[in-house]
Amino acid sequence: MVKRYDVAVVGAGTAGAVAARQAAAAGAHTVLIDAHPAADQPSVCAGLISPRTLDALGVGGEIVLRPIRGVRIQGPDGTQLRLRHPEARALVIDRRRTRGALLNAAAEAGVELLAPARCVSAAPGSLRIRLGDREETVETCVIVGADGVPSTVARSFGLGAPQWLLPARQIHLSGRLEAEDEVEVHIGCAVAPGFFAWAVPAEPGELRVGIACGPSEDPEPRLEALRERSYPGRPRARGAATIPLGAALPSIADGALLVGDAAGQVKPISGGGIYTGARCAAIAGRIAAWAALSGRTTAEDLRPYEQQWQAEIGNEIAFGMEIHRLRAGVSDRQLAAALQAASDPRVLALLAEEGDIDAPSRLVDAFLGRPELWPTLMPLIGLLGGAAPVVDAVRRIARLIRPPHL
Ligand SMILES: Cc1cc2nc3c(=O)[nH]c(=O)nc-3n(C[C@H](O)[C@H](O)[C@H](O)COP(=O)(O)OP(=O)(O)OC[C@H]3O[C@@H](n4cnc5c(N)ncnc54)[C@H](O)[C@@H]3O)c2cc1C
Repeated sequence: MVKRYDVAVVGAGTAGAVAARQAAAAGAHTVLIDAHPAADQPSVCAGLISPRTLDALGVGGEIVLRPIRGVRIQGPDGTQLRLRHPEARALVIDRRRTRGALLNAAAEAGVELLAPARCVSAAPGSLRIRLGDREETVETCVIVGADGVPSTVARSFGLGAPQWLLPARQIHLSGRLEAEDEVEVHIGCAVAPGFFAWAVPAEPGELRVGIACGPSEDPEPRLEALRERSYPGRPRARGAATIPLGAALPSIADGALLVGDAAGQVKPISGGGIYTGARCAAIAGRIAAWAALSGRTTAEDLRPYEQQWQAEIGNEIAFGMEIHRLRAGVSDRQLAAALQAASDPRVLALLAEEGDIDAPSRLVDAFLGRPELWPTLMPLIGLLGGAAPVVDAVRRIARLIRPPHL
């Protein structure tokens, strides 16, 4: 039997669940297809979000495990930076409860859930899905590929792929951090070349300890080394995953669009993709429903989706990619010097006050507005190869955080 829908969303992660709910709320007959049963939580994730992400996901505080008010950054030479704010600047969420809340909300909006069902291929107007040992066809006006990386929908339609794929590992173990409302971050080539490692307090007495590295590194032995050194608790669960960096363009084709990790809608500085994916998913769901219901489903018809999500987070992704590239060329000695520069109490206060995990580029504006702090960065200019490359990088970054006409 052939099933027919207006919109078929492949992947019931955070992005897919939000997109499907929006599409159904806009009047489209919508199916949400996932390879894993609804009760599973297949994503490997530290579950650290900004408070505004709850609104973007359309869920309440029942998914929150604890508030986070600070971060300790462990540098390569033992330098430690501690940033703290009296208010909760982040929240740790229970990913299983989040999946449950999102799937319930989608069902209430009228979304049909098909899980476990794996999409094996996609083409304009139809999907092939595997249910147990049989295959079926799903006919649909618009396909939303929210199937993470690698994306079957992206591959089937010849769509773009994120520019970098960072291998990541995470382990849940027993333990406590020095402060129960702070996270710990470890940076430097010796610990996590190409990205960083983290420890996030989760359920009482439980930690999520993870690491992501550059594409050619193996995070496994590095995670073990970090665990032995700093987090010796009893391991409960392990997971491996990939963090996609850089927008996957094009993200639209005739009858299809990509959202979430599949589209590279991830913040390149932190690897966080729940907030950005949810914001873009709301746009994806609305436009997919409009396209399906109006019968206008060509790539040109779907272009407003790509334009709107790029307008929403494109600059922040481009800014993050600049910082990521800059960071890739920085040695541990330079990193230690940067941490030293940032340990000026006035800089720390600025970071704690203005830092926003969803929009790190705002820090540049805040810093530019405080000329008395500029001399704190002077020692870095020599380390980064002199004034010319630094001015070059600042120019590129300034173009991203300010409209070109300013
Ligand atoms: C180690 C790690 C830590 C992270 N920590 C954070 C964090 O603290 N904060 C944050 O904001 N982000 C974090 N992220 C990123 C965040 O987890 C992702 O950006 C987010 O989960 C992406 O959501 P998504 O819905 O796009 O994709 P996913 O969550 O990957 O969901 C994709 C879904 O598609 C399904 N699927 C895949 N292929 C198929 C198929 N062929 N057919 C049917 N279904 C399919 C999968 O079963 C899955 O349910 C982390 C990522 C990693 C790897």
